Amino acid sequence: MITVEKALHTVLAACRPMGLEKADLLKAAGRVIGEDVFAPRDIPSAANSAMDGYAVRSGDTKGAHALKPVELKVVETIAAGSLPRRTVQAGQAARIMTGAVVPKGADAVVRREDTEEKGKTVLMKIAVPPGLDIRFPGEDVRRGEKVIAAGSVLRPGHIGMLAALSKAFVAVYQRPRVAILSTGDELVDIETEPPPGKIVNSNTYSLAAQILACGGAPVLLGIGSDDKEDLVKKFQVARRADVILSSGGVSVGDYDFVKDVMGDIGNAMHFWQVAMRPGKPLAFGSIDGVPLFGLPGNPVSVMVSFEQFVRPFLLRMQGHTRIFRPTLTAVSAQEIKKSAGVKNFLRAVVEREKNRCTARITGEQGSGILKSMVEANAFIVLDEDVSHVKKGENVLVQLLEETLTGADVPA
Ligand code: AMP
Ligand code: MG
Repeated sequence: MITVEKALHTVLAACRPMGLEKADLLKAAGRVIGEDVFAPRDIPSAANSAMDGYAVRSGDTKGAHALKPVELKVVETIAAGSLPRRTVQAGQAARIMTGAVVPKGADAVVRREDTEEKGKTVLMKIAVPPGLDIRFPGEDVRRGEKVIAAGSVLRPGHIGMLAALSKAFVAVYQRPRVAILSTGDELVDIETEPPPGKIVNSNTYSLAAQILACGGAPVLLGIGSDDKEDLVKKFQVARRADVILSSGGVSVGDYDFVKDVMGDIGNAMHFWQVAMRPGKPLAFGSIDGVPLFGLPGNPVSVMVSFEQFVRPFLLRMQGHTRIFRPTLTAVSAQEIKKSAGVKNFLRAVVEREKNRCTARITGEQGSGILKSMVEANAFIVLDEDVSHVKKGENVLVQLLEETLTGADVPA
């Protein structure tokens, strides 16, 4: 049995990055870009107006005041998307809309609110300095500038920028295809009403959802029986995936054959059993170089093991460098007793109060209580050496969601 830290280290050491693929822009959202992106042009490409108003020669507005306005002749109206036809001469102004190109001669824009229209002329009620309310060429992005570096996660801002740079396709890390094989003679498919003694194979679905949530592509291989030959066959098929996950059959029961099969057909078995609860019977190895996680069968254990080991692995495969869930310190809402020697991942609800977070256990913590995962938005992580937490004591929590609700947040 090894520690969670050692297991994680071993797992990540076996992680190889996926290749790159061209993806269209929206399919690239949330993924990691594998190329540097340089600007093919200045943005903006030409000086344009930041306001609806009048393009003027700033010198003409000198001394202008609401009580002593300066009158200028309006020579044209420039809409966004069209080009100016006239040069603004002394004593002239061009009516201009936000985003429209600033005409030659003009060096500032006076907001419409600071003017008064008077037929073919306009009254300027303020004086403006040169450059006011003009967006200059290249003020956002300069031609040739590296705007996005390889390795960046493409957030909505990046996607907008790539669109502005006319990049309809970008090179991103491929999504790993992750095969899921659930094992157990007690399992039936989701469409079958379970007869006495049988249960629905839910692990395939919780795992598939977890894989999707971190960018992988689940491949559902169905149910394998508690039979060595059948497992060998199914694992042979699974080898075509980038990563293989199995659930069940890795414990010490009479029919737990997964680790034997991993040992027989795999050319590497890195570890079996991790000092954690839930999730102790975890096996990690490979078949023909394809990483294989032999996850425990209990519905909570399988999900906790995925969170701790498979998720960081899949994220790193896809080029992410931030691969761990955010953690924070919260105040325990109850006393907790645990046995020393194993790390615990307790399903909890973390809530934000005014200036602190509280963590409350979701109730019954058995590894078969899937409802605990339904309610939880976090794990309370208790280290190996801890055996007792007092109510009100600080605990480390791992957040499973990006948003927290709390008393200070308006409904
Ligand atoms: P095992 O590790 O194979 O002994 O399984 C441990 C427990 O998890 C047993 O109670 C199984 O019935 C349950 N279990 C195993 N596989 C699944 C699955 N795919 N879906 C739901 N429960 C499962
Ligand atoms: Mg089993």
